[in-house]
Amino acid sequence: MKKIAIAGAGLSGAVIAHGLAQTGEYEIDVFESRDHIAGNCHSERDPETGVMVHVYGPHIFHTSNKVVWDYIRQFDEFMPFTNRVKAVTNGQVYSLPINLLTINQFFKKTLNPAQAREFLDAIGDASITDPKTFEEQALRFVGRDLYEAFFKGYTMKQWGMDPTELPASILKRLPVRYNYDDNYYASTYQGMPKHGYTYIVEKMLAHPNIKVHLSTRFSREMAADYDHLFYSGPIDGWFDHSEGRLGYRTLDFVAERHDGDFQGNAVINYGEADVPWTRISEHKHFSPWEAHEKTIIYKEHSRACGEDDVPYYPIRMVKEKALLEKYVALAKDERNITFMGRLGTYRYLDMHVTIAEALDTLSNYMDCQSAGRRAPVFSVDPLQS
Ligand code: UDP
Repeated sequence: MKKIAIAGAGLSGAVIAHGLAQTGEYEIDVFESRDHIAGNCHSERDPETGVMVHVYGPHIFHTSNKVVWDYIRQFDEFMPFTNRVKAVTNGQVYSLPINLLTINQFFKKTLNPAQAREFLDAIGDASITDPKTFEEQALRFVGRDLYEAFFKGYTMKQWGMDPTELPASILKRLPVRYNYDDNYYASTYQGMPKHGYTYIVEKMLAHPNIKVHLSTRFSREMAADYDHLFYSGPIDGWFDHSEGRLGYRTLDFVAERHDGDFQGNAVINYGEADVPWTRISEHKHFSPWEAHEKTIIYKEHSRACGEDDVPYYPIRMVKEKALLEKYVALAKDERNITFMGRLGTYRYLDMHVTIAEALDTLSNYMDCQSAGRRAPVFSVDPLQS
C-alpha cells in the first residue's frame, strides 16, 4: 500500500483522505496541528447553552455545483437554511444584500424594480468605466450614500485598509438585487448540516486506512516516510517563511450568553466604523430546527494576524502577491507534494470551492498515478483570482 501524508484535517485534507481511502490502496496519516478536526468550519456544542457553535465564525453551506452538493450530503442531512443578513447603519436596520427593500427603505421611496434600476444608474458614478478598487466598484454601482452606509466602515474594519486600496473583486462577491429577494447568496443550493460540520469531517475521516494525529504539526523531515504529501497548511510556513510572512486578517470573537433571543437573526452586520465589531452572529439561528432557551452570540472583530493567531482572510494585495509569487516558484521545485486549500494556495475560498478543488486535486492525483506521471504541485494556479 502507498503511504500518504495529509497535513491539515480541514475540508481539503478530509476530501483527499476520504477519496484515497475508498480505493483501498492507500494508508493515510492525517496530521492536524490543532486539537480538533474540521479546520475553520469546526462546530461544537456550547456546554452552557446547548447551542451548536461555529467556533471560527459563521459558515453557511451554499453552492451551485450539483456534484459538490451531492458529495457533501453523503455525510449528513442538510437542513433548510437561507442566510438573510441584516445590517445596522444610520440608526436603522436594513436588509442585505442591497435589494429593493434596502433601496426603498434607505431612500424613503416606493420604487418598482425598473425604477430602482434607473435610480441606481443615476446615482452610480458613470464616469468610472472600469472599476479597479473596492471604492470605485461601489461608487459605480450603488453610489456614495449606500457605499458609505453599508460598505465603507464595514470594509475598513474588516480589512484594516481604506477601500481605495482594496481590489474591486472583494465587493463583487455581493450582488445588488432589484427585487425583494434577500437571500445573501445567489447559489442554487443552500443548507446547514444537521449535526454540524465537524460531524461531516469525522465521517469523511472514519476509515480503517485513515489515522488522524491531532495536535501534531507536520514537519519537512516527516515527509521522507511517505510516497506523497497533500499539504493544506500555510504555503509560507512550509518554507519556514524564508521569503517573509504572507499577511492575513485574523478574527477575535467576543462571546456573550443571554436568555431567549438576542437579535432575532443569525447574522447582523454593523456598517459604521465607530461600532468596533463587524458583525454579530447568534449561533442558534444557524440551526432553526433546534430549540434552545439560552443563546450564545459572537461579536466579531477583525485585526492584522500575528504569528500566533489563527489566519483567516488572505490579504492578497500587491505586496503579498509578489511574495506569493516567490513561494509558488519555490513550491514548483518540490517533489511528491501537493499544496491545496485556503492556506496552501493563499486564497479566499468558500467551503464549496474548497471541496470542488479538493475533488479535482484527488482525481488529478489518481490520473497521474495510473499514468505513472508525477502529480502536479498545484491543481489550481494560486496567482490567479
Ligand atoms: N461587506 C461590506 N458590508 C457588509 C458585508 C460585506 O462592506 O455588510 C464587504 C466587506 O469588505 C467584505 C466583503 O464585502 O469583506 C465580502 O463580504 P462577505 O459577506 O462575502 O464576507 P465573509 O462572510 O466571507 O466575511
